[in-house]
Amino acid sequence: MAERTSGPAGGRAVEANQFTLLQTASPPARPPAILDERLRGTRFVSLAPQRVLNSPKSTGMDYWSLNPYVGCEFGCSYCYARYTHRYVVERAHDAGKLTDAEFADYRGAHGWEAFEQRIFVKEQIVGALDADLKHVPFGECIVIGTATDPYQPAERRFRLTRAVLQLLTRCEGLSFGIITKSPLIARDCDLLLRLQERNELQIHVSLITVDAPLARKLEARSPHPIARLRALKKLVDAGVNAGLIVAPVLPGITDGMAHLDALFAAAKAAGALFAHAGALRLYAAVRDRFLGVLEEHFPALVPRYKKAYARQAGAPTEYARALSRRIEKLRRKHGFKNHTGMIDRYRPVNMPVQGELELRGSLP
Ligand code: SF4
Repeated sequence: MAERTSGPAGGRAVEANQFTLLQTASPPARPPAILDERLRGTRFVSLAPQRVLNSPKSTGMDYWSLNPYVGCEFGCSYCYARYTHRYVVERAHDAGKLTDAEFADYRGAHGWEAFEQRIFVKEQIVGALDADLKHVPFGECIVIGTATDPYQPAERRFRLTRAVLQLLTRCEGLSFGIITKSPLIARDCDLLLRLQERNELQIHVSLITVDAPLARKLEARSPHPIARLRALKKLVDAGVNAGLIVAPVLPGITDGMAHLDALFAAAKAAGALFAHAGALRLYAAVRDRFLGVLEEHFPALVPRYKKAYARQAGAPTEYARALSRRIEKLRRKHGFKNHTGMIDRYRPVNMPVQGELELRGSLP
């Protein structure tokens, strides 16, 4: 269905349309449709986008992307996707769909909290995706979970990712990637197996450390590392093409050889078929959140991070190269295939200029 049609449609227009806006329009008197509210205050809010696939042209990435939810309860301190949530809220406010008070609530005191507590749910994603797929040419790649986790807690209730997979199993000749930290993905083994019968599929189980207390400092509510490794094993045992993605490697925290070695060894033991990793990108939208966590748990690193990431979001060039060499060494040691993984293949076209070398010392 999707594969023999014309070239990508829309470009930036696709992105612009995607966030046209909260379902409960009639501004400003009616509030957005709140689908549920959890005990700790998280609200799930309906979002009715006209388009759901972001084209490569609109994102600057080498693939189409799809995110059933905007915002993510896992709340990783280094998550760069906070900006997507902010855009949705700002556009809703600009369009008169949120009052000033609602805007403040949906934005959060510092502009990043609401990403974890006000989760937008694209309830009509299947219909919109069915239409969008007609614009995806044969052989192209669609990645699910580039900006928020498709198997975050909301998925247990709303099951949008499962509905998306059901639709995608009708496709053939496409390439799919899914990135998740959640063991809930194992629920959909049946659909993943069907999906990879006529398409390429890579499941990237995301894990930055096997040190659970460290993970809890950095990721407020993410699943335990062991639960993620168990899910990886379930997928591979079932025959799904799945592996490890370490995104991001945190300079001075998780980049030590012993640390990464333990992570690669655990992934190998879980049956991972591939592994790849990339250094932290400290975009403006995440800087305040992440530096606050550094202040709390790793205060000595704060000045080094500020210096190293002062002029660009990407890691310093020399650091990134040294890290690549280390990852390559570990790939060979643990017998992972040497192929262009998600991080290499899906690098943004317009990477920022890099130059600061300060963090090089943390790599022996
Ligand atoms: S799981 Fe992914 S999307 Fe969710 S907060 Fe963490 S990094 Fe962001």
